[in-house]
Amino acid sequence: MALVPFDDRDGMIWWNGQLRPWRDAKLHVLSHGLHYGSAVFEGERAYGGNIFKLTEHSERLKNSAAILGYDVPYTVAEIDEACRATLAANNLTDAYVRPIAWRGSEQLAVSAKLTSINLAIAVWAWPNLFGADRMKGVRLGLAAWRRPHPETAPTASKAAGLYMIGTMSKHKAEDQGFDDALMLDWRGQVAEATGANIFFVIDGALHTPKPDCFLDGITRRTVMGIARRHGIKVVERAILPEEMAQATEVFLAGTAAEVTPVRQIGELSFIPGPVTERLLRDYEALVQMSPEKVAALAA
Ligand code: PMP
Repeated sequence: MALVPFDDRDGMIWWNGQLRPWRDAKLHVLSHGLHYGSAVFEGERAYGGNIFKLTEHSERLKNSAAILGYDVPYTVAEIDEACRATLAANNLTDAYVRPIAWRGSEQLAVSAKLTSINLAIAVWAWPNLFGADRMKGVRLGLAAWRRPHPETAPTASKAAGLYMIGTMSKHKAEDQGFDDALMLDWRGQVAEATGANIFFVIDGALHTPKPDCFLDGITRRTVMGIARRHGIKVVERAILPEEMAQATEVFLAGTAAEVTPVRQIGELSFIPGPVTERLLRDYEALVQMSPEKVAALAA
């Protein structure tokens, strides 16, 4: 499939309170967000017209900005509404939703207290990150780059600047024939893939690294909830790379990746199995439910 450049598409993009034609949603090159990495963003998915866990995403967006020291000048309810309005304006029911906040071009220096804070929201059709036949599993290469210490980078923020580590890692993995990269953290413990969290099935229980230096994904928390409802034990702990060989199943969880089985990590092979398949199917069913039903299940 030929890639249509993102600036050569049609539709409407929400921009600081108004819907603008897609092609007019342009930014000045001297924007602080571009030069100094002050943007924060979200990745959401709409299913059947409902944006899954929308409010949690809007809250995380506000929090990501707060960690970087600025306030997104809209309430969580206003951001929720703007996301819904953008989806509707593009006549989409099943789509990826990308809100992004950034510091503007009023001041271009490390200190940026006089910059405006901007928010834009785009939506587009985007099937599963790893394609339709994802049950066969994806292959992960081990990244050379590590997730940084939380005192080295604002690791709890979905900050654009942190994605340079992911892009470098993913490019190298792709060059080596893998689908994605598995990154370790600064201590050498297993952390996450470049856009999704990781889970291991060990002795029938679900093991996943503690999110103390990377994003505590909304999908991650959702999958842990599904597992617990099935009576599957969930263990959040430090996982060393040497332990990965004990896993009978491995999978990724993220908004774009949804639940995606992993069939290889470096030299290790895994067979996508029943625990992963059950969680994958349950996640697929959950995202199709009404927001009220989803909230009731989570309570
Ligand atoms: N880690 C990274 C680096 C990500 O980009 C994402 C996707 N936002 C995740 C984890 C998973 O987060 P979520 O389930 O909230 O999409």
